[in-house]
Amino acid sequence: MEATEAKFMGNGVEKPVSRDDLIHFIRSVVSSNETDPFYVLDMGAIRSLVKTWFHNLPMVQPFYAVKCNPNPAFLKEMAALGTGFDCASLAEIQTILSLGVSPDRIVFANTCKPESHIKYAAKVGVNLTTFDSKCELEKIKRWHPNCALLIRIKVPETSGATFKFGSKFGALPDEIVPLLRAAQEAKLQVNGVSFHIGSRASNFHAFEDAMQVAKTTFDTAARLGLPKMHVLNIGGGFTSGPKFTEASSAVKLALQKYFPNEPGNEGLKIMAEPGRFFANSSFTLAASIIGKRIRGGVREYWISDGVSGSMNFLKYDHDQMVCTPLRLTIKNPTCKTWNSTVFGPTCDAADIVLKDFELPELDVNDWLVFHNMGAYTSSRGNDFNGFKTSAIPTYFTNTN
Ligand code: PLP
Repeated sequence: MEATEAKFMGNGVEKPVSRDDLIHFIRSVVSSNETDPFYVLDMGAIRSLVKTWFHNLPMVQPFYAVKCNPNPAFLKEMAALGTGFDCASLAEIQTILSLGVSPDRIVFANTCKPESHIKYAAKVGVNLTTFDSKCELEKIKRWHPNCALLIRIKVPETSGATFKFGSKFGALPDEIVPLLRAAQEAKLQVNGVSFHIGSRASNFHAFEDAMQVAKTTFDTAARLGLPKMHVLNIGGGFTSGPKFTEASSAVKLALQKYFPNEPGNEGLKIMAEPGRFFANSSFTLAASIIGKRIRGGVREYWISDGVSGSMNFLKYDHDQMVCTPLRLTIKNPTCKTWNSTVFGPTCDAADIVLKDFELPELDVNDWLVFHNMGAYTSSRGNDFNGFKTSAIPTYFTNTN
């Protein structure tokens, strides 16, 4: 990040609440007759994550990826804490501007944008976007010729990410020169490079592989006579917890290797587009048990949220569920557990939330509490069968 380092503007409580306190809080909500699913947003967790980011990567300005979870209270807190925002559409830009965030804190990070969205970005002064095709350059030239550009490059898929982006996004190595030339001829301003190693990455050596390609792209631009590139956008792919220490060390090492802080690189702006890192552990989901069946030795339960709702990610990703049962109905509960299946509420037979999962005996009006439910949950759900993901309420904890 330029000469000045990014700064955390935190106040209030900067600690996540403990799981026990969270369960206690949820118990108090459900005992007031709540039966629909709901989220708990831990404000202290957000503050702690933002602080951790700036502590570990002070040279990298985070632009939170709104698509990951556009919960209004969450976005408002992120805005107050000083992050920027990665918006992928007109509607996401509108949402962020409505919080009073200035347009220069937004990157329009979608490589293929409808023309009407480009026109809107020009109108409201969102002046940084990504591209990876000539067609996109032509649209930008027509509707927003003063917009600064980042060329999105495809990087080696070495991160072990659950969600890979390379088949759709990023210029291939042999497309980089023609794209940079096309931008040059159109007198468009390519300020730098953008990449994404893949979401839910596990091997952060991938940052080094990606930055090598980014550095080659910077050098190629210089060789072609483009104005000196000065923005490096390292995308998302981060998760919170111990993995973040690993990831941030890998980023720092890779920066040191390819973009060292030395003469020639002064003025380099480094930015990132983390989504999952900030959203995942900030949200907890509570879903009530709405039905039960016993088949052989297996307990089968239906709950009030599922794969068409908050748990759409289960279609791609099975090892993310951390679940605490909250028993309100069973008299004299024992510790014995049963092999259990948990279904979502819809008529879709594939709406299965948990299978071969050990749970204690539960009944209708007990609850399951799902932790780490902020990333690509409510934002990816739909309202199939009238179970309205879009209307799931959010309670807050730790707001002072
Ligand atoms: N930036 C772009 C362009 C993306 O497509 C995504 C995820 O889809 C992100 C950032 C956020 O990635 P993550 O949630 O892995 O940090």
